[in-house]
Amino acid sequence: MILPGATLGVLGGGQLGAMFAMAAKRMGYRVEAISDVADCPAAHQCHRVHVGAYDDAEWLAQIARGLDVVTFEFENIPVAATRALERVVPVRPAPEVLFTTQNRTREKAFLVANGFDCVPHRVVGSGLELRAAVAALGLPSVLKTAAFGYDGKGQQLLQQGADTGAIDAAWETLGPQELLLESWVDFEVEISVVAARGWNGETAVFEPSRNVHRHHILDMASTPAELPAGILATARTTTAAILEALGVVGVACVEFFVTRDGRVLVNEIAPRPHNSGHLTIDACETSQFEQQVRAICGLPLGSVRQILPAAMANLLGDCWHNGTPDWPAALAVPGVSLLLYGKNDPRAGRKMGHLTACAKTVSEAIENASRARKNACRF
Ligand code: AMP
Repeated sequence: MILPGATLGVLGGGQLGAMFAMAAKRMGYRVEAISDVADCPAAHQCHRVHVGAYDDAEWLAQIARGLDVVTFEFENIPVAATRALERVVPVRPAPEVLFTTQNRTREKAFLVANGFDCVPHRVVGSGLELRAAVAALGLPSVLKTAAFGYDGKGQQLLQQGADTGAIDAAWETLGPQELLLESWVDFEVEISVVAARGWNGETAVFEPSRNVHRHHILDMASTPAELPAGILATARTTTAAILEALGVVGVACVEFFVTRDGRVLVNEIAPRPHNSGHLTIDACETSQFEQQVRAICGLPLGSVRQILPAAMANLLGDCWHNGTPDWPAALAVPGVSLLLYGKNDPRAGRKMGHLTACAKTVSEAIENASRARKNACRF
């Protein structure tokens, strides 16, 4: 057990690391981030930031000597970095979990091998293989890079009726590298489930969240998801089983497509807290970040009970398009709170912060979160 007063390390300097640090500091831990960028969101919240190259094993080992446990907040970190740290200090979740989930091909192979329902797919390593995959899966389908993709980056939709020219062009755009072709799912709704698992196998599963994406980026998350109990139960038990099968010690999130005929298909796994879980900060007895602290430190997991229905609206850089957003107008909406990540450069599509609205009903929460965002961003 790693008790308050100890020093926790977080690999990655993004907002998930910053919110982890906020939760850990409140509980009396010291937090140090390890990042390849000095001016990162975690830098504003951690006691110390180590800036260097993730492939510098000697540097990592030296940092690890001053830490009691390390976690990560971003899956596009070289697994070798977590292995270099693990030689000196416990890394939770283990490097093996990162290895499986940071690559779509390995993640899908894990899901298939363990009998979890996922989207029909084919691994593609050449233009010819892509043509064969399209013939097998049909169109529309979506081509994705196996590694380093997030928020729709490294993805290309192959429309119904795409000819060989368009298929070859898609390979030219994303290849040559390992790709994955997935059937396009005509889903009813997207949901996700955040869960924590302790070193002793104890698991706590948060309420599933209903997620709406815009341009492949999460736009709004809300809970309760207001779906049939059977669908929610399947999503929750599948999530717990995935954490168990992966051997996660920490927090992970499973994203699902719920199809029109009521199937619950795994889309992807994030081995860390998730954007759709940010509303747990304001709406639940324990936030996903406190849960991450508890899980990696071997403390009892907290209650995941949701106190009020809630909705979270992401604030992308686009919101700064007409100047500084009107925060007072956003915060005048009842039950709304603001969390900004401390990023200086509000580029379009960049996650800058979020607004959470808690209300008596989830539809009121969604309405208030979107009204607050409209007030702030003036569009
Ligand atoms: P991903 O990064 O793979 O989670 O993709 C981001 C978003 O793109 C998802 O949340 C969906 O909204 C959409 N998307 C990705 N893959 C598919 C698919 N096979 N079928 C339908 N929508 C998809």
